[in-house]
Amino acid sequence: MKNSIQKVGFVSLGCPKAGSDSERILTQLRAEGYQISSSYEDSDLVVVNTCGFIDSAVQESLDAIGEALNKNGKVIVTGCLGAKKDVVTSAHPSVLAVTGPHAMEEVMTHVHAHLPKPHDPYTDLVPPQGIRLTPNHYAYLKISEGCNHRCSFCIIPSLRGDLVSRPIGEVMNEAEALVNAGVSEILVISQDTSAYGVDVKYRTGFWNGRPLKTHMTALSKALGELGVWVRLHYVYPYPHVDEVIPLMAEGAILPYLDVPFQHASPRILKLMKRPASSENNLTRIKAWRDVCPEIAIRSTFIVGFPGETEDDFQQLLDFMEEAQLDRVGAFTYSAVDGAKANELPDHVPEEVKQERLSRFMEVQERISAAKLQAKVGRIQTVLVDEITTDDSDNIIAIARTKADAPEIDGVVYLQDAEGLNPGDFVDVQILGADGHDLVGGPPED
Ligand code: SF4
Repeated sequence: MKNSIQKVGFVSLGCPKAGSDSERILTQLRAEGYQISSSYEDSDLVVVNTCGFIDSAVQESLDAIGEALNKNGKVIVTGCLGAKKDVVTSAHPSVLAVTGPHAMEEVMTHVHAHLPKPHDPYTDLVPPQGIRLTPNHYAYLKISEGCNHRCSFCIIPSLRGDLVSRPIGEVMNEAEALVNAGVSEILVISQDTSAYGVDVKYRTGFWNGRPLKTHMTALSKALGELGVWVRLHYVYPYPHVDEVIPLMAEGAILPYLDVPFQHASPRILKLMKRPASSENNLTRIKAWRDVCPEIAIRSTFIVGFPGETEDDFQQLLDFMEEAQLDRVGAFTYSAVDGAKANELPDHVPEEVKQERLSRFMEVQERISAAKLQAKVGRIQTVLVDEITTDDSDNIIAIARTKADAPEIDGVVYLQDAEGLNPGDFVDVQILGADGHDLVGGPPED
């Protein structure tokens, strides 16, 4: 017989934005007195937060739902795949309920219907910063949901809807609670961080009684006062992005911009229907570096988009040589079910896509390696993520510089790391570099 504590199993799939949804649902479950169980068998019900972005993610989500049904039987589905309810219910007709993404209230309604709220909610057991899935020393801060753009390769707006900005006071309260709980780095995420506040006409909100505009610049300034690392992700190169670069130069926020350029040929950017596609990005990058020479720029690109000619691709390579970006991710175009780009003519043959991707990576790897090599000998402040041991049982730390976001960029390996702990900031000297990561040690006198 199960005991009287209601236990909920939770499976979280997908990107950091989905992870942030999971954290909210988990926090609410704990706030209402449910216990989070780590096994299907021991749970009274399972919530599966799904991803529906590409075919392999859909399959992974359907498999996870199937496993939860087999081992437990009572399953509520939420998340991006939940927006396509029929895909879920035709594969798994016995699920209890299906909701779309960012639907914490709806999920809780279904949980209440199938597993009544415990009588005595242990609200005092929930830490004020909520339940987080990331390590204790860094946290993602989601500032908005959805997106007003309609990039032709993307189905996120149809899954997550139009932009809805969270009130700035609420965002800042969450950030402050995270810092009070010991977080050393806040990573600002959304689908389009530069668009923060557009939907509410940059309405003025309040944080600790102080008026603040719902705008990326005001938010960055306020976050910069919290005394931790603040990193901006998914920033489109609109003119007002220039306003946050001085904050980076002053050290208020990290000198790091994650700008998903996706391509450099104006013709392809137009076919992609990219936001800010008419901006002269090379000029912008140069101006940013003039104001903040230390800035690290990360970006992602799609190679082999429908209609991409050799000439378009060459423009992309020329851009890479000129832009000298610090960190780059690249993918070949792959058709996402429901994306408008599938209807475009002149799809690029798979072998041409692969050949272009390897030429692209060759150029970028050379640039990234040279950029890392230029750091050798310099003193850098790093944030320790993990303490581990090497093959000879020496204690080493895995850390990151200001130029490296967790999970997507490189790391710094620190030898002789006794006494260091995750979340510590430490000044180190960079002793070596390979194509992706750095090795560091105590600064020489
Ligand atoms: S900006 Fe474009 S790629 Fe990003 S979520 Fe919006 S539609 Fe998708």
